Amino acid sequence: MLYRAVFFDRDDTLNIDPGYLNDPSEVKLFPGVPEGIANLKAVCDFKIVVVSNQSGITRGLVSNNTVDLIHNRINEILSEFNTSIDAFYYCPYHPDYDPPEKTICRKPSPYMIVQAAEELKLDLKKSYLVGDKYSDIECAINAGVKPILINYNQDKDLINLLKKDGKTPNFVASNFNAVVNFIISDSLGDSN
Ligand SMILES: [Mg+2]
Repeated sequence: MLYRAVFFDRDDTLNIDPGYLNDPSEVKLFPGVPEGIANLKAVCDFKIVVVSNQSGITRGLVSNNTVDLIHNRINEILSEFNTSIDAFYYCPYHPDYDPPEKTICRKPSPYMIVQAAEELKLDLKKSYLVGDKYSDIECAINAGVKPILINYNQDKDLINLLKKDGKTPNFVASNFNAVVNFIISDSLGDSN
């Protein structure tokens, strides 16, 4: 059997992004994130997977080890709500620093989602990707999962650009609770 998944971008989707976050003690999740993830797992049995571009690594600003410690810290916070992220995937490369065969993992490529689907046995057609950037929505479309834009600062230009380019997300949310409510109600039609 295949699992449904909700993929999340990390920075400015789950946690506030100070710019190349490099200190686990500075992880701050947006309001509603722990409760929302707990709900998605409890109500719909979703796998929760982070897919993140972390070019700070190839830029020499953050180490792989620190990124792993940041992910441990996120799950430590979630454990207080009896929930967790099932897997973290990240792409440490950037075209300014690395050859194409390495940057293939970088969103908007669907590479990390395809890899997760194989490793975790996921049904991508019944899965979602939530992110705050144009490249997240493109990645969702490339991977064949449902795109959701989380738009905390109500950036109308981004929404209009996506529409103009024929990449309108299935849903646009201004807070995390709205994302969770949409996915739970939308996925009810997909439950068989
Ligand atoms: Mg982001």
